[in-house]
Amino acid sequence: MHYLITGGAGFIGSHLADKLISEGHRVTALDDLSTGKYENVKHLEGNPNFELVVGTILNEYLVDKLTERCSAIFHLAAAVGVELIVNHPLESLTTNIKGSEIILEMAYRYHKKVLITSTSEIYGKNTQGPLKEDQDRILGSPLKSRWSYSTAKAVDEMLAYVYWKEKNLPTVIVRLFNTVGPRQSSAYGMVLPRFVKQALGSKDMTVYGSGKQSRCFLHVKDVVSALTKLIDKPNACGQVFNIGSQEEITIEGLAKKVIEITSSRSKVIYIPYNEAYEEGFEDMERRVPDISKINDLIGFIPTVDLNGIIKDVVNYIKGKP
Ligand code: UDP
Repeated sequence: MHYLITGGAGFIGSHLADKLISEGHRVTALDDLSTGKYENVKHLEGNPNFELVVGTILNEYLVDKLTERCSAIFHLAAAVGVELIVNHPLESLTTNIKGSEIILEMAYRYHKKVLITSTSEIYGKNTQGPLKEDQDRILGSPLKSRWSYSTAKAVDEMLAYVYWKEKNLPTVIVRLFNTVGPRQSSAYGMVLPRFVKQALGSKDMTVYGSGKQSRCFLHVKDVVSALTKLIDKPNACGQVFNIGSQEEITIEGLAKKVIEITSSRSKVIYIPYNEAYEEGFEDMERRVPDISKINDLIGFIPTVDLNGIIKDVVNYIKGKP
């Protein structure tokens, strides 16, 4: 197969490229290198099964050409990271809505299967757990960047779903919960690479809010393995699947775990949300996925626990120049 990965030089996209190439497929990575990095795919340079195209998903002509010559698409290109979304709301909306619209339109033009990556932000402030795919969304005002991001991703899901329903275009939707691992940048707010860098540099660990909010972290290698299995399942089309871990930890607990694993001298400090992000910022108190649907279809079970994940991120960050 020849896959087009939008966002193919990003954190998740580059791991997906590695996985597909190791399985004998060809990969074209389309990335505008805004948050993606050449460094993430540098090791693939010279591999006859890999090509990097530097460009944006908003370039219809380019997306048309690349879609025509691939066999299926993994659409990962998006504005991600809470800090990025809060600081660049307009750019985030355009990339996430218009970009996905272009991808789906071209996929329909050449009848190519598309896997669309959505997010657990879809559930908004619904703190029930574990969250099932058909659970209600609880959102704040659309004038708050976080909720407009959630709405933009919901529009992507709706588009993918109606292309399937009305036009028979094979589309699969996944909602990624907190995904972590080597190559994840700390620049856009993601908590784990931040904490690891702070701990290794003996800096204060910046816990936002009370630190009692909780998350579940999944290793990126478990995510890409699920993505490659899902795209091969005909009965995944027209469906949405959560992908995440169920090992829940508070953010304060995560900071302490990172300190312990790295034997760091860092101290935990607490920063109010309005200082960390913006006035009136709302966080999710809890986010745990129900993963029975994806488990039933492809036997999905996370293979790396949180300690293993943290050690992997520590080794990656230690190894960076
Ligand atoms: N967070 C934190 N300190 C940081 C960065 C993030 O306490 O330096 C918190 C953030 O407020 C959130 C959690 O860690 O409650 C997870 O943040 P991330 O941006 O990684 O993911 P998301 O908010 O999308 O779950």
